[in-house]
Amino acid sequence: MITDTLLNTGTDLLNLFYPRLCTGCGTTLVRQEDHICTGCMYNLPKTGFHLDRHNPMEQLFWGRVRIEYAAAYYYFEKSGKCRRILHSIKYKGKKELARYIGMLYGNELLRAGPFSSAGILLPVPLHSKREKKRGFNQSEWFAAGLSESMNKHLAADVLVRVSGTNTQTNKSRIKRWENVENCFAVKNPEKIENTHILLVDDVVTTGATLEACAIALLEAACVKISILTIAYA
Ligand SMILES: [Zn+2]
Repeated sequence: MITDTLLNTGTDLLNLFYPRLCTGCGTTLVRQEDHICTGCMYNLPKTGFHLDRHNPMEQLFWGRVRIEYAAAYYYFEKSGKCRRILHSIKYKGKKELARYIGMLYGNELLRAGPFSSAGILLPVPLHSKREKKRGFNQSEWFAAGLSESMNKHLAADVLVRVSGTNTQTNKSRIKRWENVENCFAVKNPEKIENTHILLVDDVVTTGATLEACAIALLEAACVKISILTIAYA
């Protein structure tokens, strides 16, 4: 009891000098909140795709590559909170936030929908040069959170990037596809043989990167593939 009170007082004092701020709106977080305040959490635009068979994200891959299920936690809006969150993760180094969102999403995915039956998590790899520059792979941290809450194995040494891509921004879908085709290779395919893979990325836009990853995996082993991302743009 006394230790709890002391700890809480300590946390409150620390918060006074180094306030923990909400990534969504910048207000000071209260003791029970982590990374995102309750108000922002409530207002984040969830997709509910995990409960929706043939949702728009699954349809994105129709006719391109065989995917079992696909879902994103939030809609990506140009001036929305989800964008601010992704930006903080990628450009302000908030990898713990990516993991936290993975844990939240994993809990929801376990409660309902088809994702709980999949067996193994594979993050989309960054090119090693870019990972070195950023210091971490945001998709891997998101996958780590999913792995913790869903109690699934995370394999970061299977899917690898074999050549760099220029930044994807401002490229048409065909250009993007040419850009990522043949970029991925599969190491240790025996680790994934006969499994249902959850392929994990931070955001899906045209789906070109995820499509290239899925094709590499399907060519390398007998697998089923589903896709999970933080955001759907
Ligand atoms: Zn907030």
